[in-house]
Amino acid sequence: MPGANRYSVLFEPVKIGPVTTRNRFFQVPHCTGLGHVRPQAEAAVRAMKAEGGWSVVSTQETEIHPTSDLGPYAEHRLWDKHDIPALRLMTERVHAKGSLAAIQLAHNGHHATNHLTRAPALGVSDRPIDVAYPKQARAMDKQDIRDLRRWHRDAALRARDAGFDIVYVYAGHQMTLAHHFLLPQYNSRSDEYGGSLQNRVRLTRELLEDTREVLDGHCAVAFRFAVDQMIGTDGMQAGEEGRAVVEMLADLPDLWDVNVADWSNDSQTTRFQPEDGYQLPYTEFVKQVTSKPVVGVGRFTSPDLMASLVSKGVLDLIGAARPSIADPFLPKKIEEGRIEEIRECIGCNICVSADNLGVPIRCTQNPTMGEEWRRKWHPEVIAPKQQEEAALVVGSGPAGLECAMQLARRGYQVTLAEASGEFGGRVRKESRLKGLSAWKRVADNRLWDLQQRGNVQMFTGSQLTAAEVADLGIANVFLATGSSWHRDGRGRTSPLALAMGGMPVFTPDDIMDGLLPPADGPVLLYDDDQGYIGGVLASHMAAAGRKVVLATPGAVASAFTELTLEQHRVQADLLQAGVEILPLHVLQSADAGGAVLSCIYTSRPRRVDCASVLMVTSRQRGTALYDDLTAHHAGRFTTLELIGDAAAPGLIADAIFAGHLAARNFERDPEAADADWFRRELISLKDMGGA
Ligand code: ADP
Ligand code: SF4
Repeated sequence: MPGANRYSVLFEPVKIGPVTTRNRFFQVPHCTGLGHVRPQAEAAVRAMKAEGGWSVVSTQETEIHPTSDLGPYAEHRLWDKHDIPALRLMTERVHAKGSLAAIQLAHNGHHATNHLTRAPALGVSDRPIDVAYPKQARAMDKQDIRDLRRWHRDAALRARDAGFDIVYVYAGHQMTLAHHFLLPQYNSRSDEYGGSLQNRVRLTRELLEDTREVLDGHCAVAFRFAVDQMIGTDGMQAGEEGRAVVEMLADLPDLWDVNVADWSNDSQTTRFQPEDGYQLPYTEFVKQVTSKPVVGVGRFTSPDLMASLVSKGVLDLIGAARPSIADPFLPKKIEEGRIEEIRECIGCNICVSADNLGVPIRCTQNPTMGEEWRRKWHPEVIAPKQQEEAALVVGSGPAGLECAMQLARRGYQVTLAEASGEFGGRVRKESRLKGLSAWKRVADNRLWDLQQRGNVQMFTGSQLTAAEVADLGIANVFLATGSSWHRDGRGRTSPLALAMGGMPVFTPDDIMDGLLPPADGPVLLYDDDQGYIGGVLASHMAAAGRKVVLATPGAVASAFTELTLEQHRVQADLLQAGVEILPLHVLQSADAGGAVLSCIYTSRPRRVDCASVLMVTSRQRGTALYDDLTAHHAGRFTTLELIGDAAAPGLIADAIFAGHLAARNFERDPEAADADWFRRELISLKDMGGA
């Protein structure tokens, strides 16, 4: 175990009030899109983290009362005793793996829409609710505050009864009442809960005291607090009131869990924040103020940084949400010195996008995330091979690499053939674009694994034809031949090719291959795809000195990136780089001097002078090899399967998932594979005593 001594400081126990952790790895609260809607899948996610060595595993935010209804999002719920069994599933499974279970109690105030319950929204002050919906929260009166404290106490007791070891009071992300009361941006009260910081902190103090009192030493009390809003003097700052709050409450909680607000700052992507530990400049003061243990986050993936933070007394516990999603076995791998095996989070926020869609969590790096209960997938374990001996994987993008790696783990003789000069396909190419360099970890992790194995042969520069594939004599073939961007403009808004006159037209593939549009005039980037890549390319070209006009039928640039919490940064970054954004327009045609677009509402035409067009519209599936093989050689194969972007262009996460699924389902009964396509958690029809 070469790494054991170097990182041994990370495996020391930490006392948190009445409980003690077995090491310093702490999975802080994070959403899963499972929660109260899919409690068995939720319990399985958390149990996997415990098995992987996270000594504390927390729920996501847990609604304490129907006046804090976050529906349709699948958070947790502890409205009454009927919610206890679902949460007990989690605590029992986490305990069985030797870890402590934590629960993040929350009342979301004006952030809760109460669409499901139709309860009036409660707020620190009169103000509209957080989403664009014509509804306002009312300022809580004294009775409301007394009610809130009672609901929180009752929820804490239910949490204890569900078996939790650590109970959170939550003032973070600008999403909870405790936080709203603290922030002048929301709190305009003139009573003893508003005005001075002493007054604004009152509710938090009461919630902490209440929670301590009712739990009476049976569970630890944690406080999650955002020390800085990252908006300078317009908000709470770590060096000002953020510090003052920690000083005022220093030893009241048993544990400080500190981060920054809002969620888009807490969960920054590598595109805009490449540094591990990016929250430390804000949170590192906390340990100097309190004698209680401190956990902090910041997309920690480097064990050296983790160990040095503990050794230097910056943090007691290494907090992680995304790194624990990308690799639930990160602590175990560090403990056993298997550092190279860590699947590092790439900071893409596809996990976050699932929560924002209200669907189960998924992860680019870890295709088993969210599938632990549904498909019984384990991130580190896969069934051994059966009768078949060998498999060929054609194409080494994310789908091909993942498929080859999992087949090799199953014990097959694997041949991986790649046409180009390097492995990695689209993920390698996209990682060359501005801001996306961390994405190459997806390829690096899998390549490293494949290179360790004696049962894998890998070839670059091998553009295989159908005859060559047939001649290899390998009966099982997976074709991960990818996709390429259309040059002719067909896409969501136009099913047919556009008339582009004499206009030079580029595609994203051209830019990723190192070409750039000529610098002698503006380039019109037509983003009909509306994913992330259009904005990335615009930023990339602007950095290379091109004048860019980004036109899109969407209302904003890169509309998809709302889901990854990046859109506001994308738009600001483009505007600051001098990119002109033309929303709500469809490309109609072009001639030698410019392009004609039309307004999506009025059809009014608009001419944009440009010297070239970059088409970001849709992708052509790379099925030529598959088509040829099925047409002329099908009888030679036991398995001939098209996977990844060649089968269905999508996210890198989708391609990884497809590669993983194909490898798992290989030599499996097709009916069984079909049956578990989506295992559901059905609503019980048991009468709970209602009318
Ligand atoms: P995915 O996202 O599905 O993994 P990519 O586009 O990232 O797809 O990768 C596809 C890879 O397949 C590319 O690197 C491409 O060079 C390779 N490829 C395509 N056709 C062939 C072929 N006939 N022989 C070998 N490699 C191929
Ligand atoms: Fe990290 Fe992306 Fe996985 Fe989220 S989806 S955990 S950001 S790799």
